[in-house]
Amino acid sequence: MRPSTGFKTRWAELLPHEFKRRLADCPIVFLPLGICEPHGQVSALGLDTFKAEWLCEQAALTVGGIVAPSMGYHIHETGYHARWLEDEVGEENPHMTGIPPTAMLYLFLYQLRAFANAGFRGIVVVSGHSGGNQVDLRTAAELFIREVRDVQVWVRSDPELVEGLYEGDHAGKYEISQLMYLRPDLIDMSAKALEKEPNAGGRLALGADAEEASPELGKAIMEACMESVCKQAWAMKEEFEATVVTPPRIGYDTIERIWAELLRSSRHWTTANPWPSQAPVSDRSQWKPYEHYRVKEAEPE
Ligand SMILES: [Zn+2]
Repeated sequence: MRPSTGFKTRWAELLPHEFKRRLADCPIVFLPLGICEPHGQVSALGLDTFKAEWLCEQAALTVGGIVAPSMGYHIHETGYHARWLEDEVGEENPHMTGIPPTAMLYLFLYQLRAFANAGFRGIVVVSGHSGGNQVDLRTAAELFIREVRDVQVWVRSDPELVEGLYEGDHAGKYEISQLMYLRPDLIDMSAKALEKEPNAGGRLALGADAEEASPELGKAIMEACMESVCKQAWAMKEEFEATVVTPPRIGYDTIERIWAELLRSSRHWTTANPWPSQAPVSDRSQWKPYEHYRVKEAEPE
Protein backbone atom coordinates (compact mmCIF):
# COMPACT_ATOMS: atom_id res chain seq x y z
CA MET A 1 0.00 0.00 0.00
CA ARG A 2 1.41 3.37 -0.98
CA PRO A 3 1.36 6.01 1.78
CA SER A 4 -1.23 8.67 1.10
CA THR A 5 1.34 11.45 0.75
CA GLY A 6 3.07 9.66 -2.10
CA PHE A 7 6.80 9.29 -1.86
CA LYS A 8 7.43 12.12 0.56
CA THR A 9 8.55 10.84 3.94
CA ARG A 10 10.87 13.60 5.16
CA TRP A 11 9.57 15.81 7.94
CA ALA A 12 11.25 18.83 6.33
CA GLU A 13 9.45 18.27 3.02
CA LEU A 14 5.94 17.78 4.39
CA LEU A 15 3.24 20.44 4.52
CA PRO A 16 1.43 20.60 7.87
CA HIS A 17 -1.67 18.76 6.55
CA GLU A 18 0.53 16.09 4.98
CA PHE A 19 2.45 15.72 8.23
CA LYS A 20 -0.80 15.31 10.19
CA ARG A 21 -2.04 12.67 7.75
CA ARG A 22 1.14 10.62 7.86
CA LEU A 23 1.27 10.95 11.67
CA ALA A 24 -2.34 9.75 11.97
CA ASP A 25 -1.60 6.80 9.65
CA CYS A 26 1.52 5.78 11.55
CA PRO A 27 2.83 7.73 14.56
CA ILE A 28 6.45 6.61 14.11
CA VAL A 29 9.44 8.87 13.52
CA PHE A 30 12.73 7.59 12.13
CA LEU A 31 15.94 9.38 13.13
CA PRO A 32 19.01 8.76 10.97
CA LEU A 33 22.29 9.22 12.85
CA GLY A 34 25.60 9.41 11.03
CA ILE A 35 28.91 11.21 11.00
CA CYS A 36 31.61 12.33 8.61
CA GLU A 37 34.79 10.35 9.29
CA PRO A 38 37.44 8.71 7.12
CA HIS A 39 36.57 5.48 5.35
CA GLY A 40 39.78 5.27 3.37
CA GLN A 41 40.85 7.31 0.36
CA VAL A 42 38.28 5.43 -1.70
CA SER A 43 35.06 6.47 0.03
CA ALA A 44 33.08 9.62 0.76
CA LEU A 45 33.37 10.75 4.37
CA GLY A 46 29.62 10.57 5.03
CA LEU A 47 29.20 6.81 4.48
CA ASP A 48 27.64 6.29 7.93
CA THR A 49 25.04 9.01 7.35
CA PHE A 50 24.01 7.74 3.91
CA LYS A 51 23.23 4.23 5.12
CA ALA A 52 21.19 5.48 8.11
CA GLU A 53 19.21 7.86 5.88
CA TRP A 54 18.50 5.17 3.32
CA LEU A 55 17.27 2.72 5.96
CA CYS A 56 14.98 5.30 7.55
CA GLU A 57 13.54 6.39 4.23
CA GLN A 58 12.93 2.85 3.00
CA ALA A 59 11.25 1.91 6.28
CA ALA A 60 9.00 4.99 6.19
CA LEU A 61 8.04 4.23 2.58
CA THR A 62 7.24 0.62 3.46
CA VAL A 63 5.57 0.92 6.86
CA GLY A 64 4.63 4.60 7.09
CA GLY A 65 5.78 7.29 9.48
CA ILE A 66 8.06 10.26 9.02
CA VAL A 67 11.84 10.67 8.66
CA ALA A 68 13.33 13.30 10.96
CA PRO A 69 16.12 15.58 9.78
CA SER A 70 19.39 13.62 9.79
CA MET A 71 21.94 14.08 12.52
CA GLY A 72 25.33 14.12 10.81
CA TYR A 73 27.41 14.71 13.95
CA HIS A 74 28.19 11.89 16.35
CA ILE A 75 30.37 10.84 19.26
CA HIS A 76 33.99 10.27 18.28
CA GLU A 77 37.50 10.73 19.71
CA THR A 78 36.64 9.81 23.32
CA GLY A 79 37.22 6.52 25.14
CA TYR A 80 37.78 3.57 22.80
CA HIS A 81 37.83 5.87 19.77
CA ALA A 82 41.13 7.44 20.90
CA ARG A 83 43.34 4.38 20.48
CA TRP A 84 41.45 3.41 17.33
CA LEU A 85 42.21 6.84 15.86
CA GLU A 86 45.86 6.54 16.81
CA ASP A 87 46.06 3.21 14.95
CA GLU A 88 43.90 4.12 11.95
CA VAL A 89 44.57 7.82 11.41
CA GLY A 90 47.66 8.61 13.48
CA GLU A 91 48.65 12.26 13.28
CA GLU A 92 46.72 12.92 10.06
CA ASN A 93 43.60 15.09 9.98
CA PRO A 94 40.56 12.79 9.79
CA HIS A 95 38.23 15.59 8.60
CA MET A 96 35.43 14.37 10.82
CA THR A 97 32.28 15.74 12.47
CA GLY A 98 32.90 14.28 15.92
CA ILE A 99 31.36 15.75 19.06
CA PRO A 100 31.79 14.79 22.73
CA PRO A 101 29.35 12.38 24.45
CA THR A 102 27.77 15.15 26.55
CA ALA A 103 26.91 17.26 23.48
CA MET A 104 25.45 14.25 21.67
CA LEU A 105 23.46 12.77 24.53
CA TYR A 106 22.08 16.11 25.71
CA LEU A 107 20.87 16.96 22.22
CA PHE A 108 19.55 13.41 21.80
CA LEU A 109 17.29 13.82 24.84
CA TYR A 110 15.95 17.05 23.35
CA GLN A 111 15.43 15.32 20.01
CA LEU A 112 13.35 12.66 21.79
CA ARG A 113 11.38 15.46 23.47
CA ALA A 114 10.74 17.15 20.11
CA PHE A 115 9.46 13.88 18.63
CA ALA A 116 7.13 13.13 21.53
CA ASN A 117 5.82 16.70 21.56
CA ALA A 118 5.21 16.57 17.80
CA GLY A 119 2.85 13.64 18.47
CA PHE A 120 4.95 10.57 17.74
CA ARG A 121 4.53 7.46 19.87
CA GLY A 122 7.30 5.38 18.35
CA ILE A 123 10.87 6.60 17.82
CA VAL A 124 13.16 4.46 15.68
CA VAL A 125 16.80 5.54 15.79
CA VAL A 126 19.20 4.08 13.22
CA SER A 127 22.88 4.82 13.74
CA GLY A 128 25.23 4.26 10.82
CA HIS A 129 28.13 5.02 13.16
CA SER A 130 28.60 2.06 15.46
CA GLY A 131 31.06 0.54 17.86
CA GLY A 132 29.60 1.37 21.27
CA ASN A 133 27.95 4.78 21.03
CA GLN A 134 24.57 3.10 20.53
CA VAL A 135 24.85 1.69 24.06
CA ASP A 136 24.99 5.21 25.52
CA LEU A 137 22.08 6.32 23.34
CA ARG A 138 20.06 3.40 24.69
CA THR A 139 20.95 4.37 28.27
CA ALA A 140 19.64 7.89 27.57
CA ALA A 141 16.54 6.49 25.87
CA GLU A 142 15.79 4.20 28.83
CA LEU A 143 15.85 7.13 31.25
CA PHE A 144 13.62 9.07 28.86
CA ILE A 145 10.92 6.40 28.59
CA ARG A 146 10.97 5.85 32.32
CA GLU A 147 9.82 9.47 32.72
CA VAL A 148 7.78 9.79 29.55
CA ARG A 149 5.41 6.90 29.38
CA ASP A 150 3.43 5.98 26.24
CA VAL A 151 6.43 6.64 24.01
CA GLN A 152 8.68 3.87 22.72
CA VAL A 153 12.28 4.37 21.65
CA TRP A 154 14.26 1.78 19.70
CA VAL A 155 17.95 2.41 18.99
CA ARG A 156 20.10 0.20 16.75
CA SER A 157 23.36 0.56 14.86
CA ASP A 158 23.23 -1.03 11.43
CA PRO A 159 25.50 -4.02 12.23
CA GLU A 160 23.15 -4.85 15.12
CA LEU A 161 20.30 -5.09 12.62
CA VAL A 162 22.00 -7.99 10.83
CA GLU A 163 23.72 -9.70 13.75
CA GLY A 164 24.41 -13.35 12.92
CA LEU A 165 23.99 -12.68 9.19
CA TYR A 166 26.76 -10.21 8.43
CA GLU A 167 29.60 -8.85 10.48
CA GLY A 168 29.97 -5.07 10.52
CA ASP A 169 33.36 -3.46 10.04
CA HIS A 170 34.95 -0.10 9.49
CA ALA A 171 35.52 0.75 5.83
CA GLY A 172 36.09 -2.90 4.98
CA LYS A 173 34.20 -5.35 2.79
CA TYR A 174 30.95 -4.74 4.74
CA GLU A 175 30.84 -0.94 4.76
CA ILE A 176 32.40 -0.24 1.36
CA SER A 177 29.87 -2.68 -0.15
CA GLN A 178 27.04 -0.75 1.51
CA LEU A 179 28.03 2.54 -0.10
CA MET A 180 28.84 0.85 -3.42
CA TYR A 181 25.21 -0.21 -3.51
CA LEU A 182 23.63 3.01 -2.19
CA ARG A 183 25.83 5.61 -3.88
CA PRO A 184 28.25 4.10 -6.40
CA ASP A 185 29.15 7.65 -7.39
CA LEU A 186 30.72 8.15 -3.95
CA ILE A 187 33.23 5.28 -4.17
CA ASP A 188 36.41 5.43 -6.23
CA MET A 189 38.63 2.41 -5.69
CA SER A 190 41.36 3.95 -7.86
CA ALA A 191 41.87 6.66 -5.22
CA LYS A 192 43.57 4.00 -3.07
CA ALA A 193 46.79 4.99 -4.85
CA LEU A 194 46.73 8.23 -2.82
CA GLU A 195 47.67 6.23 0.28
CA LYS A 196 51.28 6.36 -0.84
CA GLU A 197 51.34 10.03 -1.80
CA PRO A 198 52.83 12.54 0.60
CA ASN A 199 50.36 14.78 2.46
CA ALA A 200 47.31 12.87 1.19
CA GLY A 201 46.49 11.41 4.63
CA GLY A 202 47.71 7.83 4.24
CA ARG A 203 45.42 4.82 4.64
CA LEU A 204 42.74 6.73 6.57
CA ALA A 205 41.13 3.74 8.28
CA LEU A 206 40.47 1.64 5.19
CA GLY A 207 39.76 -2.00 6.11
CA ALA A 208 42.16 -4.70 4.93
CA ASP A 209 39.44 -6.52 2.97
CA ALA A 210 37.88 -3.44 1.34
CA GLU A 211 38.90 -4.65 -2.10
CA GLU A 212 36.54 -7.61 -1.72
CA ALA A 213 33.56 -5.22 -1.54
CA SER A 214 30.82 -5.39 -4.16
CA PRO A 215 27.49 -3.68 -4.85
CA GLU A 216 25.80 -7.10 -4.78
CA LEU A 217 26.97 -7.74 -1.23
CA GLY A 218 25.98 -4.19 -0.32
CA LYS A 219 22.47 -4.77 -1.64
CA ALA A 220 22.11 -7.99 0.37
CA ILE A 221 23.34 -6.28 3.55
CA MET A 222 21.17 -3.19 3.16
CA GLU A 223 18.06 -5.22 2.39
CA ALA A 224 18.64 -7.39 5.45
CA CYS A 225 19.12 -4.27 7.58
CA MET A 226 15.94 -2.79 6.15
CA GLU A 227 13.94 -5.91 6.88
CA SER A 228 14.97 -5.65 10.51
CA VAL A 229 13.97 -1.97 10.81
CA CYS A 230 10.64 -2.65 9.07
CA LYS A 231 9.89 -5.59 11.35
CA GLN A 232 10.30 -3.34 14.38
CA ALA A 233 8.23 -0.55 12.84
CA TRP A 234 5.41 -2.94 11.86
CA ALA A 235 5.29 -4.26 15.43
CA MET A 236 5.12 -0.74 16.85
CA LYS A 237 2.45 0.31 14.37
CA GLU A 238 0.29 -2.68 15.20
CA GLU A 239 0.55 -1.93 18.89
CA PHE A 240 -0.31 1.74 18.40
CA GLU A 241 -3.38 0.84 16.32
CA ALA A 242 -4.69 -1.22 19.22
CA THR A 243 -4.40 1.52 21.83
CA VAL A 244 -5.27 5.19 22.03
CA VAL A 245 -3.17 7.53 24.12
CA THR A 246 -2.31 11.19 23.89
CA PRO A 247 1.36 11.63 24.69
CA PRO A 248 1.91 14.43 27.19
CA ARG A 249 3.70 17.65 26.27
CA ILE A 250 7.13 17.50 27.81
CA GLY A 251 8.73 20.61 29.28
CA TYR A 252 12.40 21.49 29.57
CA ASP A 253 12.26 20.65 33.28
CA THR A 254 11.66 16.96 32.56
CA ILE A 255 14.59 16.73 30.16
CA GLU A 256 16.88 18.60 32.54
CA ARG A 257 15.96 16.13 35.28
CA ILE A 258 16.72 13.16 33.02
CA TRP A 259 19.97 14.79 31.94
CA ALA A 260 21.09 15.33 35.53
CA GLU A 261 20.51 11.66 36.20
CA LEU A 262 22.33 10.56 33.05
CA LEU A 263 25.30 12.77 33.93
CA ARG A 264 25.69 11.02 37.25
CA SER A 265 26.72 7.86 35.38
CA SER A 266 28.99 9.64 32.88
CA ARG A 267 32.12 7.97 34.23
CA HIS A 268 30.66 4.63 33.10
CA TRP A 269 29.40 5.62 29.66
CA THR A 270 30.66 3.25 27.00
CA THR A 271 32.08 6.13 24.97
CA ALA A 272 33.92 7.55 28.01
CA ASN A 273 36.43 4.72 28.39
CA PRO A 274 38.81 2.53 26.38
CA TRP A 275 37.94 -1.13 25.96
CA PRO A 276 39.84 -3.22 28.53
CA SER A 277 41.61 -4.99 25.65
CA GLN A 278 42.99 -1.76 24.16
CA ALA A 279 46.57 -0.63 24.66
CA PRO A 280 46.91 2.86 26.17
CA VAL A 281 47.12 5.76 23.75
CA SER A 282 50.72 6.90 23.25
CA ASP A 283 51.66 10.01 25.19
CA ARG A 284 52.66 11.85 22.03
CA SER A 285 49.48 11.02 20.11
CA GLN A 286 47.07 13.83 19.21
CA TRP A 287 44.30 11.58 20.63
CA LYS A 288 45.80 11.19 24.11
CA PRO A 289 43.64 13.92 25.78
CA TYR A 290 40.41 12.13 24.76
CA GLU A 291 41.23 8.66 26.10
CA HIS A 292 39.42 9.01 29.45
CA TYR A 293 36.43 11.29 29.13
CA ARG A 294 35.41 12.87 32.41
CA VAL A 295 32.65 15.43 32.95
CA LYS A 296 33.64 17.98 35.56
CA GLU A 297 30.11 18.72 36.82
CA ALA A 298 29.49 15.01 37.33
CA GLU A 299 32.52 14.39 39.52
CA PRO A 300 32.17 14.37 43.31
CA GLU A 301 33.64 17.49 44.99
ZN1 LIG B 1 31.36 3.78 8.88
